[in-house]
Formats: sequence, C-alpha cells, structure tokens
Amino acid sequence: MSGTFVGMPAFPEAARTAVDDPTLRGNLRHATHTIRAKRASAVAELADWAELREAGRRIKDHTLRHLDRFLEQLEASVTAAGGTVHWAEDAEEANRIVAALVKETGESEVVKVKSMATQEIGLNEALQAEGIRAYETDLAELIVQLGKDRPSHILVPAIHRNRGEIRDIFTHEMAAWGRPAPEDLTDTPADLAEAARLHLREKFLRAKVGISGANFMVAETGTLVVVESEGNGRMCLTLPQTLISVVGIEKIVPTWRDLEVFLQTLPRSSTAERMNPYTSMWTGTSDEDGPRAFHLVLLDNGRTDTLADQIGRQALRCIRCSACLNVCPVYERAGGHAYGSVYPGPIGAILTPQLRGTASEIDASLPYASSLCGACYEVCPVAIDIPEVLVHLRERIVQGGPAVRHGNKVVLRPARGHAAERAAMRAAAWAFGHPGALRTGQRLAARSRRLHPRTLPGPGRAWSATRDLPAMPAEPFRDWWQRTHGGKDAK
Ligand code: SF4
Repeated sequence: MSGTFVGMPAFPEAARTAVDDPTLRGNLRHATHTIRAKRASAVAELADWAELREAGRRIKDHTLRHLDRFLEQLEASVTAAGGTVHWAEDAEEANRIVAALVKETGESEVVKVKSMATQEIGLNEALQAEGIRAYETDLAELIVQLGKDRPSHILVPAIHRNRGEIRDIFTHEMAAWGRPAPEDLTDTPADLAEAARLHLREKFLRAKVGISGANFMVAETGTLVVVESEGNGRMCLTLPQTLISVVGIEKIVPTWRDLEVFLQTLPRSSTAERMNPYTSMWTGTSDEDGPRAFHLVLLDNGRTDTLADQIGRQALRCIRCSACLNVCPVYERAGGHAYGSVYPGPIGAILTPQLRGTASEIDASLPYASSLCGACYEVCPVAIDIPEVLVHLRERIVQGGPAVRHGNKVVLRPARGHAAERAAMRAAAWAFGHPGALRTGQRLAARSRRLHPRTLPGPGRAWSATRDLPAMPAEPFRDWWQRTHGGKDAK
C-alpha cells in the first residue's frame, strides 16, 4: 500500500526538508528540464497552438457553465449503452460504492489504470480496509506502490526516483506482491521495464475487475476516454469482466468535435508526443468484446463548491497534463510531496485548497507556494490563470480566514494568523484619513531614522530576515516639495 499525505506539515516546512535533499533536487531538475524542453518543441510544431488553447478554454468554460445539463445527458447516454451510473458526493461515498461493486463480483483483487481521481479519494486504502487488494499497473504507479511511497508528479508519480533506486525497490519489494524481480536485475530502462512487464502480466491475465479513471467523458454518446503510453491501461480496460471507472464530474466534454481539440493539446503538453501511443475509448458494454459490466462513478468531492467561486472555478478546466509542474521553479526545488496532496505543483496549489477547503495548515499554506512568476499560465493548454487564482485564494484566506468544510458546504471562519496584518491595514487607513497626523508621523519617522531597527521584532522577524527594510528618507516628500516648489502643498 502506498503512503498517504495525512498529517503532513505545511508547505514551507515540508519544502525546507525537500530542498535539503541533493538527490531529490538532482532527479527533479533533470526530469523537469528534459520534459519541458521536449514539450516546447512539440508545441512549436503547431502553427495554430494559440487557437487550440483558446478553443480548449472556451469548451471547458461552456461545459462548466452548463454542467448539470451535460451530466444528465451523459448519464442517459451511458445507461442507454448498457452501463450503470452512480453519483458520489464525496470520497467516502465513492469508496463505499466501489468496494460494494467489487464485493458483488466475489473478487478480492483488482487491477488499476493510473487515475488521479482514485488517488484523490484514497481508494486503494479504502479497498484494503475491505480486504480487497488493488494492483497499480502503470509503471510509475507500480514503483510508488512497491516503494510504499507517495506520488510526487501528476504524470510521472515516481519522478523523484532515479534508476538505481527503482532497481532496489523492484529487487526488494516485488516478491511480496507477486512475481519477483530477476536476481541479476540491472538499472537499465529496458531491464526495469521488462521486470515490470513480467510482474504485471500475470495480474492482467488473472484479473476479473478493472478500475480506471478517465481523461474525458463525451456526453453525446456516453463514451469514456483514457490516454496512456504503456498499454497497461488498454489491458485493464479490455481483459476484466467488470470495469469500474471513477471520474470527476468536470471531465466531461459535450461532443466528439470538442474532444478533438484536447486530443491535440493533451499529448503535446504532457508527454510531448503528437498523439498518445494508446487512446482507449469505450461506450457502455458489448456482448462480443471487453467487460460485460460497466459502472461509472461520478465524483463531486468539492467540485461543485469550486464551481461556485467565479475566479477559482477555472481550476476545473484542468486536463492534468502537468506542463505547469515542469516549468515551475518552486516545484523543481520543493518536489511534489511538499504539497501534501496527489495534486502537486501550481495546479495543486489552487485545486487542493478549493477541493478540501483551507481549514488545515497545509491547505491554507498552498496558495503561498508560488513566486507568481506566471510560467504556469504561459504553458497551460486551457489557459488557467493560476497566478490570478493564487492571489484570489490568498485574499480569501486573509479576508475571511481559513474556509471550513461542513458536510458539502465550505464556510469561512475568522482568521487568527492574520490579525496583525488587518490591524496594520486599519492603522494605515486611519493615518491616510488624517493628513495632519500623517505629516507629523512622517516627520518624526524621518528625524528618528538612525534609531530604526534593521530587522523587525517578534513575528515580523522571519519576514525581515530575508529582506531589507526600506530606508527612510531624511526629509518627507511633502516637505521636500514645499521647499522646492515655493511653499505650495503637494497634492
Ligand atoms: S493547470 Fe494547465 S498546465 Fe497545469 S496540469 Fe492543468 S491543464 Fe496542465
């Protein structure tokens, strides 16, 4: 079973530990720089990239605006094609539904396609509690699962591991999960891939239940789409008799024509490929081929709350390409684990606090895990203005304090840590409303400037430890103006 993010410290503390790890920083730097350069050249091949990006943004915004209608259309299409649709308000309900469906089959193990939604709800852990073993079949997810680790990247969950570490994990852990690794396993990519292939093949051939997410759901036909590079997804989607897909409600697109846009932008933004090696699409069930039973679990888990926020809702356009992670200077140094969620990097910094609320220290710290350089916005294929949402969430936290989830509702509670900031703002508002007092204060400050401390005391110490306090001028601007402009007051 993979490790969980429960109980992790806030971002600054977790990031401090990560930046002290030279191996981790080396692994991340090498991987993110390689992917980002490849993506840039894959995107540069398309003369109409800007138009595709704008089309993706518009399609997603239109879909989110009419989400209720498209979800009902999807439900009708899936049902007509022989599938069964389940609605899950939160993680607990989704896990309960999936566990019950697996138990109905009489099976105690499942094979899984890589899926962010199932990680978000902690499905593997919930299934384990019910005596059901879930096998991850994506290579990077397998490494994370065998290493009892946590994912640190959306696309490459084991990006923080190098080849030597992966060989050690396979050598020591594979036997506990099935076919052991070869005794003479080397750390060459071909050997590692072959060891994983042999280990997984027996699971594919034995599995009666497959669990997936989906990259897209087409409302007009009830078709689900999974794009991947290894072929493990295709095996999980076609070999088992029962297929259960857990998908966030925002993954819907109205038509196949809309899908066409994302099948161009997603592979180039994520793996820098012109198209994915495997694009699997399925519509309900068929008597001739594939699973005989298909269940779609539609997951809310904070998405409708996010939809209610006019600025924050753009996070729901995300197609999980991970391009924003690969260009982010903060992610490159802090790594994915510091974000305390399955959604790391810039998208995690705006999505997690909206899905989970900001009641916990770590969730409230995420909107500050950014330098606001804007590189994430530049590369995003659906033009999510991540810096805008980050600033908006910071404002929400400062103004109203952390949001707290009560059932399916998120409410703001009074801030505690920002009382000093609010008091300072009130004092400034008073001073600007009383020009005489402001002038006296400015003169006093100018005359006493040699006595001013270079660092702030108390809680302000951390702020001033890495910044120089602005130097106070010898003469306030208004006095200088009066002296040099014949006694006229400065407006
Ligand atoms: S926010 Fe944009 S760039 Fe980042 S993962 Fe989502 S779609 Fe990709």
